[in-house]
Amino acid sequence: MKDQLVRGTAWNDGIRVFAARTTNLVGELQRRHDTYPVATAALGRTATAAAMMGVMLKGQEKLTVQVKGDGPIGQVVVDANASAEVRGYVDFPHVHLASNAQGKLDVAGAVGRNGYLYVIKDLGLREPYKGSVPIISGELGEDFTYYFALSEQTPSAVGLGVLVDTDHSVLHAGGFIVQVMPGLDDAGLSRLENAVAAMPPVTALLQQGETPESILKFLVGDDLTLHDEMEPRFQCHCSVERVERTLISMGANELRQLIDEDGQAEVHCHFCNETYAFDASQLEALLRRAES
Ligand code: ZN
Repeated sequence: MKDQLVRGTAWNDGIRVFAARTTNLVGELQRRHDTYPVATAALGRTATAAAMMGVMLKGQEKLTVQVKGDGPIGQVVVDANASAEVRGYVDFPHVHLASNAQGKLDVAGAVGRNGYLYVIKDLGLREPYKGSVPIISGELGEDFTYYFALSEQTPSAVGLGVLVDTDHSVLHAGGFIVQVMPGLDDAGLSRLENAVAAMPPVTALLQQGETPESILKFLVGDDLTLHDEMEPRFQCHCSVERVERTLISMGANELRQLIDEDGQAEVHCHFCNETYAFDASQLEALLRRAES
């Protein structure tokens, strides 16, 4: 089944809604980085939120979400753009933690509670937009809710879930974001609060075969208008050519030093886990380009 991301509005444009099934995307992140279950859940939840936040952007705009807590997985970093292309990593993918008191993956323990959630948006302006909030839960759904309320002044509800199999592969992943627009009245607001409180976990809904659209109907009922449907997918834009340009931009002196001291170079892309290796003769060729 393909991944799917939908966005729409409901209740006379009083709320806007996003929902995604990201099972394949999170599965690819898991395989590329060999993440253990609790790291898969932290990375997958962040990637799912970032995918939905990405499609709030337009054109060439893009964003980076960085969750920097003091837990054992280190920081979680995810890039996403308006085309629902997503890439990401965690600093330490091989972390095992005992289940939490609810018998679930201890995402909060892996992320840590001391730290910040950062959102950096490249909107094509000279300076990027930067927002941040302290981590209040570490389970991430609540943290994104807090980010939208505090940093974007948009009351929101965020649900995120990743279900991992015993062999570490991803069984289900997905989430939703519901945002209150200025036109929503008090009755609508309390109706929404009740619907969010009664919402089953996203992974339970995905397990039952629910789709992003039907997940949204659990929240808002049938008065739902979808405006767009996309396939969120993993995409890293690194390439040999880009790495070569980076090496050349170091300058001739640095390159010559690299050749003399190391005789080779390896450049690793954190986002997709690819390594680009250059031997001495390839570096010599880059040096000639740097000198020309
Ligand atoms: Zn890459």
